[in-house]
Amino acid sequence: MKATSKTKLAALIRSDAQRFESLQREIVQLDYFCKGTVLKRMMKCGHQPCACHRDPAKRHGPYFECTYKVQNKTVNLRLYPEVMPLYRAAIQHYRKLKSLLARMERLSRQALAHLAQQRLTGRN
Ligand SMILES: [Zn+2]
Repeated sequence: MKATSKTKLAALIRSDAQRFESLQREIVQLDYFCKGTVLKRMMKCGHQPCACHRDPAKRHGPYFECTYKVQNKTVNLRLYPEVMPLYRAAIQHYRKLKSLLARMERLSRQALAHLAQQRLTGRN
């Protein structure tokens, strides 16, 4: 391999490391995370004569639920409206985490290929 491409490879390796570190910092800063979705529900009550049974607009609520899956079973967590933002944020953090992990994996594959190339060209 020519000297120029060796220099270029070293620059690529440095840039891989910098990008990886910046993703690592983002992960470290991530707050509590939770998989799932927040659903807003209007409910009928158990009282048959109540207007909610005839008119969907008169259903009670809103009630919030956080639903997620644990070992293929759906979990519905009933949430008070006041705590809903907490879960909504945690769900966003989870999505952020997944996207960061995907980016780190892609970057890792690329960085490993560059490192492997460097190791092989340094052999002789
Ligand atoms: Zn009702």
